[in-house]
Amino acid sequence: MGVNKDRRGARDAIEVASTDEIRALQLARLKTTLAHVYQNVPHYRQAFDAAGANPQDVRELGDLARFPFTTKSDLRANYPFGLFAVPREQVVRIHASSGTTGKPTVVGYTARDIDTWAELVARSIHAAGGRAGDIAHVAYGYGLFTGGLGAHYGAERLGCSVVPMSGGQTEKQIQLITDFKPDLILVTPSYMLTLIDAMAAAGIDPRSTSLKLGIFGAEPWTEAMRAEVEARTGIDAVDIFGLSEVMGPGVACECVETKDGPVLWEDHFYPEIIDPETGEVLPDGELGELVITTLTKEALPVIRYRTRDLTRLLPPSARNMRRIGKITGRSDDMLIIRGVNVFPTQIEELVCAIEGLAPHYLIHVDKDGHLDRIQIEVELRDASFGPQREALGQLLAHRAKEMIGISALIAVRDPMSIERVSVGKARRVFDRRNDT
Ligand code: ADP
Repeated sequence: MGVNKDRRGARDAIEVASTDEIRALQLARLKTTLAHVYQNVPHYRQAFDAAGANPQDVRELGDLARFPFTTKSDLRANYPFGLFAVPREQVVRIHASSGTTGKPTVVGYTARDIDTWAELVARSIHAAGGRAGDIAHVAYGYGLFTGGLGAHYGAERLGCSVVPMSGGQTEKQIQLITDFKPDLILVTPSYMLTLIDAMAAAGIDPRSTSLKLGIFGAEPWTEAMRAEVEARTGIDAVDIFGLSEVMGPGVACECVETKDGPVLWEDHFYPEIIDPETGEVLPDGELGELVITTLTKEALPVIRYRTRDLTRLLPPSARNMRRIGKITGRSDDMLIIRGVNVFPTQIEELVCAIEGLAPHYLIHVDKDGHLDRIQIEVELRDASFGPQREALGQLLAHRAKEMIGISALIAVRDPMSIERVSVGKARRVFDRRNDT
């Protein structure tokens, strides 16, 4: 099951070039990018001048730490096109972030940016185990969201036959998977779960489809979720990472032979991990906020962009570029429950580890007087676990206390009673503490 294990190895020579060669390329490209934004974007010129950071003084990659960060609010303050570094006429495509957290941020691409993006997604799909000639079913949303078109152009570039299904219309998705027999699917992990459940409901064994590979991203998902999806479908489940401000999907992608965290394509992006409180750059291996500088983008280069994604930089394994660890969550996803920091992914790990529970959950937070109250809604995997409902709830409550340190109320619902994601990214947290 899964993809043929011969499908390993790099698509581009640079993926396995020597560290010296990669660092030299990064430095040259960094200098060009800094000069480009200093010359063409008033925001960067002012911010660099205010920080006393001159692109001409950059001698080594570490010098980047002297430059100011860029944040989502800088993009918003320059809404819609103020950070573009080329005349608007050279921008051939505009996307906007899905606006998970507030007003969308607008991004633009030159023809060369689109070409680079297609190459990097092609490289990502190849690393994940896809090949020319495969049929690729794209169930990421098409439109302003970068997921659909990003995946689409990359799959075409690799030489796949692409089915641009987009998100939603679950029954039709399943019909096309049954009839067209795709080899791989690109979709959010939460919508993949919806597809799996819908297949089962339609009497189709999710292990019997033609799919061999799933390339999942756009939202956090855990190792426990990978195990769940792989066991239920027999496919290889591979993690792809990206964000629209930096490019879109394909900033980093796992290799199918190792599945040990997405390889960050360092010939195009320079990563740093910082302490989110102090902004200090942390050594590789330490957990902190991922900061990315683009090295080749023309229309919207970003310098030290604070992704708010919490992860760590890991040493190279299947390629000669650093990997990122699975994303724990965004700093703004973190819940503070009676003083304890909690990420939804921690709860996902616990839910997926209990056999009698389905991998679906909702987290409700509100106030009980002055105290925070958290309730976790889960559901039975199937009706045969009905007699264990109470015990399963107690087990989850116990583990939440032991492993996360929170006292959670647990509601164990009937199978299929938690609403499924119908398109795109899951919303699992409902924090009503500030509602009056
Ligand atoms: P929005 O900020 O509106 O959600 P995007 O659609 O560009 O904008 O989403 C990018 C974000 O999605 C990333 O910053 C990250 O938080 C999340 N993300 C993308 N891929 C992954 C992944 N493989 N694992 C975890 N989180 C991811």
